[in-house]
Order: sequence, then C-alpha cells, then structure tokens
Amino acid sequence: MPAEARYYEIHDNKIRCLLCPHHCVVGEGETGICGARTNSNQRLYTKIYGGVSSIAMDPIEKKPLYHFYPGSFVLSVGTIGCNLKCPYCQNWNISQNNSAKTSFLEPAGLVRAAKAQDSIGIAYTYSEPCIWAEYLLDAGAIARQKGLKNILVTNGFINQAPLRDILTITDAMNIDLKTFNSDTFRKIHKGRLEDVIKTIEITHSAGCHIELTTLIVPGINDTIEEMRKIIAFIKSIDESIPWHISRYFPAWKYDAAPTDTNFMLRVYEEAAEILPYVYCGNMRGGRVNDTYCPSCGTLLIQRSGFSAEIKSVKSPGVCAKCGFKLNIVMQQIISI
Ligand code: SF4
Ligand code: SF4
Repeated sequence: MPAEARYYEIHDNKIRCLLCPHHCVVGEGETGICGARTNSNQRLYTKIYGGVSSIAMDPIEKKPLYHFYPGSFVLSVGTIGCNLKCPYCQNWNISQNNSAKTSFLEPAGLVRAAKAQDSIGIAYTYSEPCIWAEYLLDAGAIARQKGLKNILVTNGFINQAPLRDILTITDAMNIDLKTFNSDTFRKIHKGRLEDVIKTIEITHSAGCHIELTTLIVPGINDTIEEMRKIIAFIKSIDESIPWHISRYFPAWKYDAAPTDTNFMLRVYEEAAEILPYVYCGNMRGGRVNDTYCPSCGTLLIQRSGFSAEIKSVKSPGVCAKCGFKLNIVMQQIISI
C-alpha cells in the first residue's frame, strides 16, 4: 500500500511533510504524528494508500449531513490514523492504532462498489480522511467522472494547498469545530484552532456544501460562553450553515459522565434564536432533529434516528409552502 506522498519538501536533507499544519520533520524510517506517513530513502510515503479499515452503506444523516441529499445512503469508507489526539475519540481503535487491520481497495474498485450499491457517492470518514489525501484525490476524481458525490467528514486540520486540491473533487463536508478556545485545542486535541477556522472559511468560500459539528464534552468545552462564541462565529461566516451539537458519551481515555441533556437543550435553544438550522445529535428525536422553514415555520424534514422524511421541500431546495430558498441540496425533484 505505500505510495509516494504528494505534499512534502526536502530541505537540508530533512523531509518535512506539508499535508497538515503539524509540518512534521520525518527522519529516515520514522513516521509523522498521524502515523500514516513515513520517510524511506529520503522520500516521503503514505502507508495507507488504499488501506481500508471500515466500509459500510450509511444513511447520510449519520455523517451527520442533514442538508445534503436528505434521506439518501452513501458508501462510507475509512482508513487508519489521525493527526489529532482527542482523548474521547469514539473511533480510537482505528484513529489511534496504526496496526489496526486494513484491506487494500484500489480507487476504481471503491467507485465500482459505490455504483453497485446505488450510493449517491462516497463519504471518506471514520478516521481522519485528510491524511488519506492521495487516495481520496484519486478515488474522488474517478467518482466524479462516474457522477458520484464526494463527501468528507473531517477535523479540518489540513494545510491550505492540499485543502484546495481536495476541494476540486469534494461536494460536501462536515467539519468538526471541537472548541473555540485555542488553548484547549492545543492542549487537549493537539492541534491549532486557527487552522481549522481557516479550513471552514476556505471551504465555504469555495462553494462546497458545509455543515459543522461540535461534540459538547463535559470539562472540555461545556460552557455557555464558549458555545456563544461558536454561534457568533458561524453567524459571521454564514448563518445558514447547519450546526450539529452532539452529546458526548465516554470513550477511549475520557470517562466523564455523558453531557447533561439540559445543557444540550439550553445550547440548542440559544443557538436556534440566531441560526436557522441547529440540531442535537446523540439525543432522542423530536423537533431538535427536524428542519423548519426559517421564513414561514413549516416543518420541512422530519427525522427519526437516522431516517429522514421530506415533508415540504421542493427541488432545488425551496420551501414548498412559501418558496423560501433553503440551504438544502436535494437529490431529486420531489412532488408534494
Ligand atoms: S499529515 Fe501526518 S506526517 Fe504530515 S504533517 Fe500531518 S501529522 Fe505530520
Ligand atoms: S479528530 Fe476525530 S478521529 Fe481524530 S482523534 Fe479526534 S475524534 Fe478521533
């Protein structure tokens, strides 16, 4: 599976990876922080090209993407490794374990699998897809040619040049906005918030459909002040960006009790006063997972678990009742 990496430089006989803002200097035989890129004979290689740890047809709502082809299914695929170290990672067994089992799947084979299962496209997810850049660029280009969509579920911690390359083949992204505190991001997640913010800004400016997710974790980001900063930030970019706040449950190295549901609802209520599309993940359904028209209040999409029933949206994404232009990308013309 090793393939030469695309994003690196050699300076003073040292290899520096340029894929993400860690800018690891990788010595002979060593790997970078993500565990996925290694120096062999003064060349940088990705160790995970085509290496698939998990693959499944998922409802798109599970990514979560609530405003992109609602109610559809997408072939979801992941590799191993991650360039961040969130102590509560739900997928730590593949994101932080570089000896986890993978199977090789060539890019064309992945696209064939998506077509065979009538998927709307391919979602690169589960671990961190940006460190899989070479593979997802190759698979994504073929997928595009075959009329499929490419979706990334990412931590957004990537340099601008590779991000811009990835955006040429990407239709939708869900980006984690883990905190709005730079110190927390540096100390707990082992990255830099400013780089993620840049990714969100660039992705939005490029016209890629974007949704944001914040896992609310007790002791890390569960203050109303921090949530208000995130709400203000989203509003400053585009208030119609869907924001998923998600309830945390203990995982990996973090064992605090699950997020207080009253706090989740308080954040939801405050956010919904300012942002038209706010959702509570990992909570029982009801209105906190439904979509309403920001103009006339009509129920547009009703959700239960990961299923979505379109009630009142017309292609190409307007309220069937009042005609308001929604930030929803529809799969097909819906007759009401
Ligand atoms: S992608 Fe991996 S090797 Fe490259 S800079 Fe980031 S963590 Fe380091
Ligand atoms: S960025 Fe995602 S995959 Fe990586 S450690 Fe954090 S939660 Fe896990």
